[in-house]
Amino acid sequence: FDCEKVKRRIEAVEKSLEEVGEITDPSKLVVGVDLGTAYIVLVVLNENGQAVATEMQFAQVLKDGLVVDFMGAQRIVRQLKEKLEQRICEKTGRTSFELQYAAIAMPSNTAEAECKAHKYVVEACGLEIINMLDEPTAANRVLEIQNGGVIDIGGGTTGLSIFKDGKVIYTMDEPTGGTHLSLVLAGNFRIPFDEAETLKKDSSRHREIVGIVRPVIEKMGTLVKNHLVGHEVHNLYLAGGTCCLPDFENIIEKQTGVATHKPVNPFLITPLGIAISA
Ligand code: ATP
Repeated sequence: FDCEKVKRRIEAVEKSLEEVGEITDPSKLVVGVDLGTAYIVLVVLNENGQAVATEMQFAQVLKDGLVVDFMGAQRIVRQLKEKLEQRICEKTGRTSFELQYAAIAMPSNTAEAECKAHKYVVEACGLEIINMLDEPTAANRVLEIQNGGVIDIGGGTTGLSIFKDGKVIYTMDEPTGGTHLSLVLAGNFRIPFDEAETLKKDSSRHREIVGIVRPVIEKMGTLVKNHLVGHEVHNLYLAGGTCCLPDFENIIEKQTGVATHKPVNPFLITPLGIAISA
């Protein structure tokens, strides 16, 4: 196992997440649209694959990866797209600009009808879909793992994808995610869910928060461990907003017994991978 190589790759990922990309030809900009159960994220890349602008919004318009509020999803994607276009205009001195091309990703094993619902939401906002892929493959466009596992913990689910020679050979998705952690916090502090969501993201209280939700994170680790049985996995990589919590990688590593690596911003791994795939 080449520790240095993984470290270099994670550093490269972090660099590509900084919004440093120059815009030489706006017509070549592409956007990755990540419709999640907790967040909708849009990332714009230039032709060199560098991030130019990112916008996101908390939204509960999907449930278990399925679009449950089509109009709501469409409204938010449109608003985020307009914000990005405005920022691109400011950067380039143009008076108007419209993003044209997009890629989207769905959880593995999403039914065809659901893939179409995702597609229609994005197309209804004036974007042409030039690539549709599954989320683990999108995350791996950034991480570039040949052999190992990607743990993606978003709002609704804990996912594990195992890669062999760069291809997905196994996936699991279980319904425990960041929303579950917020519910535990809401119960613990006797506060409404929305307040608990905000509290969870307050980095000044992260140590205290991890102390409270640690048993749930441990359970996520056990879940992953059970699905690793029978697979030769020597490294795990974290993606998904929930993994932003400090110490997350250490808890998962302890539970699974497998070396676990976390980029500085796991939240943006999948959205960035979707955009790279456009
Ligand atoms: P899913 O993958 O289940 O469809 P999603 O794509 O919306 O959901 P992400 O955007 O990867 O998931 O992550 C959203 C979750 O991450 C939410 O539960 C959110 O509260 C949590 N989250 C985001 N940022 C942070 C943070 N800084 N600290 C703790 N949790 C965070």
